[in-house]
Amino acid sequence: MATLSPDGRHIIAAGEVGAFSVCPLSWKLKWVDKETSKVEASVELGKDLHKSWASVFEESLLLNKWIRYLAVLVCTAAVVFLLIHSPEDPLSGIFFVSVRSHGLQLIVLVAATLLVIRSFMKAARTRHRDSGFALSQIAVAIEGSSILPSREYISAAQGLAGKPDALVKEEEFFLPVERKPLAKKLRDRYVAQLLVYMRLVEEFEGAKPPHGYLLLGPKCRRVKVQNSPQKQQWIDSMIREMRLILDGSEATAQPHPSKCAKCDVRHRCPSRLDSSSR
Ligand code: SF4
Repeated sequence: MATLSPDGRHIIAAGEVGAFSVCPLSWKLKWVDKETSKVEASVELGKDLHKSWASVFEESLLLNKWIRYLAVLVCTAAVVFLLIHSPEDPLSGIFFVSVRSHGLQLIVLVAATLLVIRSFMKAARTRHRDSGFALSQIAVAIEGSSILPSREYISAAQGLAGKPDALVKEEEFFLPVERKPLAKKLRDRYVAQLLVYMRLVEEFEGAKPPHGYLLLGPKCRRVKVQNSPQKQQWIDSMIREMRLILDGSEATAQPHPSKCAKCDVRHRCPSRLDSSSR
């Protein structure tokens, strides 16, 4: 929501810029005039899908943690065995039969643990992929995760705020990721929101992200969005218009039957179009 910073400047949320790109009047009614919106069942469904996405990813992190524990356990067992049964150990000669028997036990233990590690690795990779991430991407923050808590950025300097659904690292870059579980296709509003996150990530993480990712639909289709100067100019022009409206200018309605049909403040809009107006 367009909030005020201590110096009286409006802080615009990344999601607002996305909403503005759909219809400036809808954004104003909802975010500035704070008209009550009709909460759609799809919003709740989206939240549920979002939570399950975070938990699938969290499972992959937990499995990776257990893989490390098991690997340490196997290494420790092997080292302890080698120390106890080293050739200098006079007892090993005396208890040769017993040593052979322990050796077999160790081999069985290592083999069993390696099998468990292998199945954990497979499960972790599957969950990582199911949550829309490439295996080469290192997640550093994810919404709803207790292991890697999400990062919220509030920039007084830019007058912008946002909390990406996830943050991943590729080489030296931090890249924002936005999950849209109900999306059927790529929309301008998703791109706009992600581009605002890129501005915030640049300020707070210290390097300009060359791109970010959208994860669309129930299967998390990954779409790469380039952080180009042309796209950022588009964001600039929208933020300028938004600030003019916040200072008292009129918001223009951009009616379209399909947009108005989904608009949750259409009951307050004199310009709304019905689907019969197509
Ligand atoms: S009903 Fe249509 S024109 Fe009116 S605010 Fe919503 S999207 Fe804009």
